[in-house]
Amino acid sequence: MLVRLMYVSRAVPALDTEELSSILRASRSQNPALGITGVLCYSDGIFVQVLEGGRSAVNRLYARIVSDPRHTEVEILSYEEIGERRFAGWSMGQVNISRLNPGLLLKYSETATLDPYAVSGQVSKALFDELVATAAIVGQS
Ligand code: FAD
Repeated sequence: MLVRLMYVSRAVPALDTEELSSILRASRSQNPALGITGVLCYSDGIFVQVLEGGRSAVNRLYARIVSDPRHTEVEILSYEEIGERRFAGWSMGQVNISRLNPGLLLKYSETATLDPYAVSGQVSKALFDELVATAAIVGQS
């Protein structure tokens, strides 16, 4: 039973690049044993993360992440049962914001800024699908 969960959250103001690296390191070292794959996007103080894997594993990891003091306002954007993974190659890929085309953001939202709180879960999902298609994801699997 595979599921995919996507959520949005706001980083605490003090979060720096070292903290971000530490989150990615923890994810990449712990997720393989849990059978979790996905991507993490960070831009202008906003996280969007997609977690894929077994239902129990994803639910438990999400509960742990929600209580992490490094972010707040954690909101689920979408949760679905899936037949196959979309991010099978990434224990936790990082969306390379420098390669994020403003035109892609404008295609789905009112301004060229990433604000998943302001758009539907469907729109956020569509945006991530295009990011994968344009290979704007970095990080070893
Ligand atoms: P421990 O390392 O024992 O930590 C105990 C508590 O302290 C936890 O509540 C933890 O959240 C918190 N904590 C840990 N380090 C710090 C720190 N430097 N500053 C402040 N508080 C801290 N973990 C994964 O395994 N996979 C993921 O995909 C993943 N994605 C994440 C995405 C985001 C946006 C964030 C903010 C965190 C993510 N984490 C992820 C980290 C996760 O929340 C836990 O910190 C990590 O899994 C270790 O959990 P633990 O219970 O073993 O905690």
